Amino acid sequence: MSAQTRLFMCLKDNFGVLLHDPGSGRTAAIDAPEAAPVEAALKATGWKLTDILVTHHHGDHTGGIEELKHRHRCRVVAPDGEAGAVPEVDETMRDGGTVRVGALEGRVIETPGHTSAPATLYYPADKLVFAGDTLFSIGCGRVIEGTMEQMWQSMLKLRALPDDTMVHCGHEYTLANIRFAQTIEPNNTELTARAAEAAKQIADGQWTIPTTIDEEKAANPFLRADVPAVAAAVGLAGKPAAEVFAEIRARKNKF
Ligand SMILES: [Zn+2]
Repeated sequence: MSAQTRLFMCLKDNFGVLLHDPGSGRTAAIDAPEAAPVEAALKATGWKLTDILVTHHHGDHTGGIEELKHRHRCRVVAPDGEAGAVPEVDETMRDGGTVRVGALEGRVIETPGHTSAPATLYYPADKLVFAGDTLFSIGCGRVIEGTMEQMWQSMLKLRALPDDTMVHCGHEYTLANIRFAQTIEPNNTELTARAAEAAKQIADGQWTIPTTIDEEKAANPFLRADVPAVAAAVGLAGKPAAEVFAEIRARKNKF
């Protein structure tokens, strides 16, 4: 049986998501920004929390772990390189490793940049990826602990996933990301279409994720730093993609 997910908001604009394996009954929270919305999602679905899979150590992704673990005695799995900064860790995961939720088998893709060793979790059989704060819809996380080169390489790892992979991310930042992206590629028709779609989703009280790798490749400037027109748009025609990426990221920081 295939995976089921339930998406919900936490804190101000963090996404929480539950990943459920109907066969075994196991349910993972991908990050735990705060306990109460996770509890509400569990209650609404009738699912029982068995695992918390942590993408990275930031407090707005880990703040609910202690309370949830004490109540549900669930397993907490964190990236090996960041486990010291995550509470209540039972197991760690490394790049290329596997993280299971019942019969659902996830692959760990280390995507450094936003933090030093975050885990992006990819479930190929269900075409799901949970990118934390590495990739957002039409955006990416701030490069805080890693280098711009590392973050660009992380973008390439995610861009290489199959086009129809559904992308879940850590925050609802899409409309602001689109406004910025339009300053880089005002004539990108895929971006224009995404802007209309996202505006309608928000107006209808929906969320803008999951998105797909295909949609992001077409319209997310952070995945397009090696497109000649994008390099030219930021005055870096012919320059290495990591340099173009760094310039786009720097402009976004000031936007
Ligand atoms: Zn973060």
